[in-house]
Amino acid sequence: MRIGILGCGQLARMMALAGWPMGLQFSFLADPGDTGDCVKGLGDLVQYPEGHDSLSLQDLAERVYEAMLRPNVITVEKESVPVALLEALKAHCAVFPDPKAVRVCQNRGCEKEFIEGVGASMAPKIVVNTPSELASAVRELALPVIVKTCEDGYDGLNQWKLNSEGDLEAFLSEHGEIAESVVEKRVDFSREISLILVRTADGRTAAYPPTQNWHEGGILRASFAPAEAIDDSLAAQIEDLKSRVFAGFDYVGVLAIECFVVDGKLLVNELAPRVHNSGHWTQQGAHTSQFENHLRAICNLPLGSTQVPGYAGMVNLLGVEMDAEKALRSNAFFHTYNKSVRPNRKVGHINLVHSDASALRAQLTEMLAEIYV
Ligand code: ADP
Ligand code: MG
Repeated sequence: MRIGILGCGQLARMMALAGWPMGLQFSFLADPGDTGDCVKGLGDLVQYPEGHDSLSLQDLAERVYEAMLRPNVITVEKESVPVALLEALKAHCAVFPDPKAVRVCQNRGCEKEFIEGVGASMAPKIVVNTPSELASAVRELALPVIVKTCEDGYDGLNQWKLNSEGDLEAFLSEHGEIAESVVEKRVDFSREISLILVRTADGRTAAYPPTQNWHEGGILRASFAPAEAIDDSLAAQIEDLKSRVFAGFDYVGVLAIECFVVDGKLLVNELAPRVHNSGHWTQQGAHTSQFENHLRAICNLPLGSTQVPGYAGMVNLLGVEMDAEKALRSNAFFHTYNKSVRPNRKVGHINLVHSDASALRAQLTEMLAEIYV
């Protein structure tokens, strides 16, 4: 069986690494200019056909499908993929998750509308298109707020924290025009958790225990699972959220939901229609990794157990040099993405496992201090 992946970054790499033992083969569609270093040696790297801009969607889809060696299933490793092409590829093979779900998650405005539509809670927000709409949204929501562009935002990019009137004035004088954005009330969360869920084409589902996450400057630094102190009320809110989201769209594959916990209440922050950085710990921490379960789901194979025997953690390597010798311990596992190091760039991660929660947390803290001096 051959899997086609739109994108060739580290998530594609880790999907392929998980799929090889099951006998799956891989093709990756590179973005223009991407050299595909992350997936080198793991499958067939395909470039967009010459003159792709002037091809009809149907012709482009056919050329891409053929160049990818006629995969049985096509999937994505990021939100920023051409949804129309994805939709057109459905004429040739299965495409999971459905392009409509990818489209919802591509645009923060649509995503928040979806979250609202399924009746899940989130921070108050207003979608704006002009500086004056932005100013009145800030008045309505009251400072502090975060402004996030609806498209092209990830890892805290294209986000502005406005804490004071001065920040708002500075923002407005710098931005004569703005791209469609969400103005969101800044919430005072006690912690951030994420849910990694999976569903097969015939409706079977599984979920990993909630993950607790630490962000620094809008980028994930570290995760810990299972998140501690999930009381009955929070557990019930998590269950309710899962069923609402899955009922909201016809989803196949791994889906990640990032949440805030504010005064014991679960607020949804965003959705990711793919394997997610906050689920990397599952590679060693769970019986089946999120990457393997995504592949099992899109191939309609039996899902693997999401059980976690003990505790697991992950530290992201953001713009830092690391090698196996330095990273490895008996309970530490090194994952590198074959990328060159640039400031804040995700170049790898280290997973930790332990039978004791506090010992694992102490080790995570120590490792973070060592890496980010
Ligand atoms: P991205 O798509 O870049 O991951 P997010 O919306 O997840 O964007 O924001 C990145 C991080 O910024 C979050 O994980 C959280 O730490 C912080 N953040 C985002 N929105 C809010 C908010 N409304 N209140 C408080 N913190 C927030
Ligand atoms: Mg996020």
